[in-house]
Amino acid sequence: MTVPIYQTSTYVQDEVGVHKGYDYSRVANPTRTALQLCLASLEGAEHGVAFASGMAAVTTVMHLVSPGERIVSVNDVYGGVYRLFSQVYQPKGYEFTYLSAETINAELAQHIDERTRIVWLETPTNPLLNVIDIRAAAEAAHAVGSLVVVDSTFATPYLQRPLELGADIALHSTTKYLAGHSDVVGGFAATNDPTVAERLYFLQKSLGAVPGPFDSWLVLRGLKTLAVRMRQHCENARQVAQFLERHPAVERVLYPGLESHPGHEIARRQMRDFGGMISFLAASEEEAVGLVARTKLWQLAESLGGVESLIEHPARMTHASTADAPFAAPRNLVRLSVGIESAGDLIEDLEAALVRSAAAAGA
Ligand SMILES: *Cc1c(COP(=O)(O)O)cnc(C)c1O
Repeated sequence: MTVPIYQTSTYVQDEVGVHKGYDYSRVANPTRTALQLCLASLEGAEHGVAFASGMAAVTTVMHLVSPGERIVSVNDVYGGVYRLFSQVYQPKGYEFTYLSAETINAELAQHIDERTRIVWLETPTNPLLNVIDIRAAAEAAHAVGSLVVVDSTFATPYLQRPLELGADIALHSTTKYLAGHSDVVGGFAATNDPTVAERLYFLQKSLGAVPGPFDSWLVLRGLKTLAVRMRQHCENARQVAQFLERHPAVERVLYPGLESHPGHEIARRQMRDFGGMISFLAASEEEAVGLVARTKLWQLAESLGGVESLIEHPARMTHASTADAPFAAPRNLVRLSVGIESAGDLIEDLEAALVRSAAAAGA
């Protein structure tokens, strides 16, 4: 019933040049192969390539681009991706243009040309939950011969399948919802393009950022409950977002499931449901920092997508590396990764922490 953990680095061969399908575990390992097949099938993809982390997946995909070529990216990308782009690739002569989700949705075609090798999208974005119309962006990008990469970590293939909407590569940090239990770091990229796939398999073994057999097994184990977990994450997030939207100490709630969200209509079209991530603006940075330390059920921690609810302050934690960017996370932003606990308990805990905010503001 369960794929074994093939905890081996090498494989006995029958003769020189005749092996049983595996020769060395950086090149291939049966547990990793099972994971790649499973994740690819969830994305509706022919090919899937697993990595040691989400950033390892990003780094490997970035090797499809050469110095002098251009990457057009949504400005509100994951902080670690922005750091990689701005502090590793840009100094090597790669060119980056950052556009807001709004600009991409309205007029991407006006900002790309034949030198654009990749249009890098993330939807919904981390941490502002902006939503990008994947189908429209893919049409514009393909018109100039660019590839479209969608970091679909927040959505998972249960909620959104970028390849079916026209993207060339769907990318994930499997650390998050796919593994789902905050116990492993991993990454993944899926594609239906045979040329891209061949290059990614080559880069996977050549760059070597591969996941180990036990890590592959943990992600496979998590995937078995992806659908039920996602349903509960979405249901809980809906209730928490509605609670926050009514709360006087909350300035603004960013959740694509709310009709007030600018990306609500696009999200309805391209996602099955709206996911388990919510961000909101507290009255001030001090309030945000105080609040995230006061909750009891919501643990103060980076990362997201596990069964337990987490709370954090992006400007000083996950997105500190975007602090110098023109699109830095607002200082009063709080990000929630809504777990699968009782929604009532989660709301009660937030309410207690927010009441103290309101009291402090009044004092
Ligand atoms: C976490 C995350 C990453 C990076 O993944 P790691 O597994 O931490 O390396 C990339 N993109 C998004 C949207 C993420 O949330």
